[in-house]
Amino acid sequence: MSQTTTSATAQITCAFCKGAGKDPFDLLSERATCQVCGGTGKVEVVEPVIRCAFCKGSGVYHSTRITCTVCNGKGVVTAPKGPTEWCPKCEGTGAAIDSAMPCLKCKGKGVVSK
Ligand SMILES: [Zn+2]
Ligand SMILES: [Zn+2]
Ligand SMILES: [Zn+2]
Repeated sequence: MSQTTTSATAQITCAFCKGAGKDPFDLLSERATCQVCGGTGKVEVVEPVIRCAFCKGSGVYHSTRITCTVCNGKGVVTAPKGPTEWCPKCEGTGAAIDSAMPCLKCKGKGVVSK
């Protein structure tokens, strides 16, 4: 009868708009709300979280104006379960060496379960 799902969630500042709640790039209009946090400036994440290696915590996919596909613009990702180590394939960068896509092994997180 005991539930073992203990995924705690936390509210963090939205990385994409840095908590402003507005689209940082004025893509739609000057007053467009941030698509990541919906204008609240905060996003919910499942702990434990680590900084998104692919966007380096910015929430932005490289220098494009779209949200990072790894963290969905939050700037952090939920860490793999258990002990982790740097992803040997991308050496922790989260990016595939031969393309601008996230690393397939760690899915852009930069770390993998040991
Ligand atoms: Zn936002
Ligand atoms: Zn990211
Ligand atoms: Zn990797």
